[in-house]
Amino acid sequence: MRRAARVHELFLGYACNERCLFCSQEFAWRRQPFTPFAEAARRQWLAYKAGARVLVLNGGEPTLHEGLTRLVALARKTGYPEVHIQTNGLRLAEPGYAGELAAAGLTMARFSMHGPGAELHDAQVQVPGAFAKAWAGLENLRARGVAVGVNVVLNRMNAPRLRETCAWFLDRGVTDLGLIFPLYEGDMAFYGDRVALSMADAAAAVRDAFEEFRARGAEPPFLLNMPPCVLPGYEGRILRWSGDSAALYDGAKSLLVDPEAYRLDRPEGGKGLAEAAAEQKSKPASCARCVYAARCLGVADRYLERFGAAELAPLARVPAPFSRGWKGVKGWRRVLTPREHAALRGSR
Ligand code: SF4
Repeated sequence: MRRAARVHELFLGYACNERCLFCSQEFAWRRQPFTPFAEAARRQWLAYKAGARVLVLNGGEPTLHEGLTRLVALARKTGYPEVHIQTNGLRLAEPGYAGELAAAGLTMARFSMHGPGAELHDAQVQVPGAFAKAWAGLENLRARGVAVGVNVVLNRMNAPRLRETCAWFLDRGVTDLGLIFPLYEGDMAFYGDRVALSMADAAAAVRDAFEEFRARGAEPPFLLNMPPCVLPGYEGRILRWSGDSAALYDGAKSLLVDPEAYRLDRPEGGKGLAEAAAEQKSKPASCARCVYAARCLGVADRYLERFGAAELAPLARVPAPFSRGWKGVKGWRRVLTPREHAALRGSR
């Protein structure tokens, strides 16, 4: 098995030009200044010296950082073979700016897009015209050879149209999709009465959406922030439900992302992905009867405070994978089993 590249995710700050109803960051954080260019450059250089080979520039909205293009160029000059951003895409609608980032050596951009069209997306991010700009931004980068993916944050507004949303992107050649269950923190807690969604309702939407992928023979999305008991058999697509879950992040290059080789570098301090995945989660007493009791990290405390634990039905045995009988499963990226993860650690 090929070794994981070390990933360094550098948060440049929390400023943003959207106001997503489900954002897990506190609105007040946006007033904090971005990390200055020199400090960000120092951090990405130190991470490279420590062995990182994938740099993810994140926020807030990283395209609002006036030095982003220079940071990307510097990272590539330093030697990073992969430099990614996670973005709402608004600024990338400017062809000149998208061209600058591509020319600087950006290799991947993940866009946050939350519906199959302007009406639904713009209502969630509270910016008129946001969908058109994000899609233009995605096409601007894709036309310049930058890999693109889309993350959809599940909530009450978009769950009923999740399958249609996935179909919209698949129809347009976007095949790298992630479905993220929201954290009940920040604006999500504030606007919860408008957008809160139970895991059971999210799971129903996910199952329906996966049927779209099955019908097309396409690799389905990755999932985040849901435990196996609400989607039994989907463990191979759920990231970070256990301390050892990891994924082949980039199928084309078989670049393996390993939580133990993934560092989150926030303005307030750094930590490993495995540590962050376990934070502020609990398991109700009934989890002791679950086949995954020893591996599962549980559910976010804030979710349990709002919805309780009734949905978390312990699994008596390891469920059959949802993909049984699907065609074309062999080439998929997927979350590793503990045995594969142990083998990976042993190969370092
Ligand atoms: S250990 Fe608990 S939270 Fe995790 S899958 Fe089992 S029942 Fe669900």
